[in-house]
Amino acid sequence: MPDVLIAGAGPTGLLTAFELERAGVDVLVVERDAEPTTQSKALGLQPRSVEVLADRGLLAAIEPHVQAKLPAGHFSGVPIDYTDLPTCFPYQLGVEQAHVTAAIEARLRTPVLRDAAVTAVTQDDEGVTVTAGGREYRAGWLVAADGGHSTVRTLLGAAFPGSPARISLVVADVTLSAKPAGLAEDWTLPSSGSGYLLPLSGGRYRTIVFGEEQQRLGRDAPVTVEEVQRALTAAHGPGVLVGEVLWASRFGDASRQLEQYRHGRVLFAGDAAHVHLPVGGQGLNLGLQDAVNLGWKLAATVRGTAPEGLLDSYHAERHPIAARVLVSTRAQAVLGIPDPDAAAVRQVFTELLAVPEARRAVAAELSGIGVTYPGITGRADIPVSADGRAVLVGAAVPPGWAGRVEGREGAAPRLVRPDGYIAWNGGPGLEESLHRWVGAPA
Ligand SMILES: Cc1cc2nc3c(=O)[nH]c(=O)nc-3n(C[C@H](O)[C@H](O)[C@H](O)COP(=O)(O)OP(=O)(O)OC[C@H]3O[C@@H](n4cnc5c(N)ncnc54)[C@H](O)[C@@H]3O)c2cc1C
Repeated sequence: MPDVLIAGAGPTGLLTAFELERAGVDVLVVERDAEPTTQSKALGLQPRSVEVLADRGLLAAIEPHVQAKLPAGHFSGVPIDYTDLPTCFPYQLGVEQAHVTAAIEARLRTPVLRDAAVTAVTQDDEGVTVTAGGREYRAGWLVAADGGHSTVRTLLGAAFPGSPARISLVVADVTLSAKPAGLAEDWTLPSSGSGYLLPLSGGRYRTIVFGEEQQRLGRDAPVTVEEVQRALTAAHGPGVLVGEVLWASRFGDASRQLEQYRHGRVLFAGDAAHVHLPVGGQGLNLGLQDAVNLGWKLAATVRGTAPEGLLDSYHAERHPIAARVLVSTRAQAVLGIPDPDAAAVRQVFTELLAVPEARRAVAAELSGIGVTYPGITGRADIPVSADGRAVLVGAAVPPGWAGRVEGREGAAPRLVRPDGYIAWNGGPGLEESLHRWVGAPA
C-alpha cells in the first residue's frame, strides 16, 4: 500500500510525487490517459519555477527543449521586464509543458499507472480508498491533482465557488501551408490578440483564436480547420493557409477556487484547486509551487514527524497566493476586452506599468519571485537538501535535532525549509522556528 496516492500525472501531480519520493515516501500516481500527453497547454516556466526545477536537478533535462529565454513576462500582453529580478534566472523559459512533465516523470522511482481514471473515493480515520481504472487502492492520503475538471472534487462535493466562463477561446497547434508575410520565426513578447502565431518545434505553430464564432459555438463543438482558417484570415489576411489542426481545445475565463484545499485525508493541488483564464502564464507555475509547498509537509505527516498544524499550513499558505492570481487574471481578462472603454483602461495601465516601482511589483508577482508566506524572510540561494529536509546554515544544529535537520557551513545564518523559503535568519527564535517547521527534537 502506498503512503500517498496521487490522482493525475499533470505537472502538479508529477512534481508532488517527485517531492514525496525524495523525502522517502511511497507514492502511486494514477492517471486517466493511457499515454503521456505530447500536447502542451502551457508554453512557459516563470522564474520561480525555474529556480525550483534547477534546485532539484530537473532543469537539465528540460533545457534542450527550451525555445526561448524571454527577458520579460506580460500582464495581459503589456510586457513586464524581468531583467532586474533578484534571481539567477531573471527570465521566462519558453518551453512546451509536455517536456516539463516528461522530465519530471523520468525521475520518478515508481512508474505512473496509466489508463487508471479515478472513479470513486472514500476516506476514514486511517486512510483513503480509491477506485482507479476499475481497481481499488488503499493509501494513507490522496492528493487530487486531476486538473480543472477534477473528478475527486466532484466526488467529494467540495465547494468550488467563483464565476463561470463568459468568454470562449480556442487553442490550436497547426501546420501552415502558406505563412503570412513577415511572420516572426522566433518567440517575441507579448504574444497576444486573436490569431497570434508562435513557432513551435517540428514546423508546428501555436495559435489562440477568439471572436464571435468561438463565443457562439458550444464548449464541446469540435474545432475544425475551417474555423481556425477563418480566424487566422481575419487576423492576417488571405495569405495564411492552415494545413492541419494537430491539436485543439476550447477554454474560457471561468475563475474558481476551492474553499478548502484539505478535505480530511484528501489534499487538492494545481488546477484541481483553482482555475482561471490562462493569461500572464500563471497556471502551470501555480501548480508547481503548490506541489513544492505540499510535498515536504505531507512527507513529514506520513513519517509522523510533522509538527502540529504543518499540513494545514499548506492551505493557509497557498490559498491566498492562488486567490491573488485569480484577481490578477480577472483584471488581465478585462484589459483584453476589445472595446473602447477597456482600451482606455489598458492605456492608463500601460502607462502606470512603465513606472519602475509598479513594474517591479507586478514582475515580482507574475514571476513568482515575490511570493512569500507569513514569517518567511526570503528564498534561499543554496540548494535545498536532497532528501527534502530543512537545512540549517551558519549555526550549530541544536541538540536533539541532528538527523532531522541538515547542518551546513555558511556565512549567513538561516534555517531553510525544504521548499527553499527561509524561516529564520539569525538572532533569537531558532528553536521556535525548528518547532514550528521541523517538529519536536528526537
Ligand atoms: C490554452 C492554455 C494555455 C496555457 N498557458 C499557460 C502558460 O503559458 N503558463 C502557465 O503557467 N500555465 C498555462 N496554462 C495553464 C496550465 O496548462 C495548467 O494550469 C496546468 O496544466 C495545470 O497542471 P495540473 O497538473 O494541475 O493539471 P492538468 O495539467 O490538467 O493535469 C491533470 C491530469 O489529471 C488527469 N486526470 C483527469 N481526471 C482524472 C481522473 N479522474 N483520474 C486520474 N487522472 C485524471 C489528466 O489526464 C491530466 O493528466 C495554460 C492553459 C491553457 C488551457
